Amino acid sequence: MSAQSSSHCRSCESTNQNMFNGEIAIHFPGLEGLDKPIVWVFPKLLVCLNCGFTEFAIPETELRQLAESDRAAA
Ligand SMILES: [Zn+2]
Repeated sequence: MSAQSSSHCRSCESTNQNMFNGEIAIHFPGLEGLDKPIVWVFPKLLVCLNCGFTEFAIPETELRQLAESDRAAA
């Protein structure tokens, strides 16, 4: 096995992946979501250029906003 650092797409196993800078507005689903503030995140996106599957991690601050807003609904 080669020691290359490139990872495989979790969906199609392709190594044809590239990093992009993302700008994502996260909306809460449903009618209640309309009253909640949109959470903006700017993650690094690991995009599979073969099938379109994309991975990214939401930074801690924004993650907390999502968790707290979600709890407030329950
Ligand atoms: Zn893929």
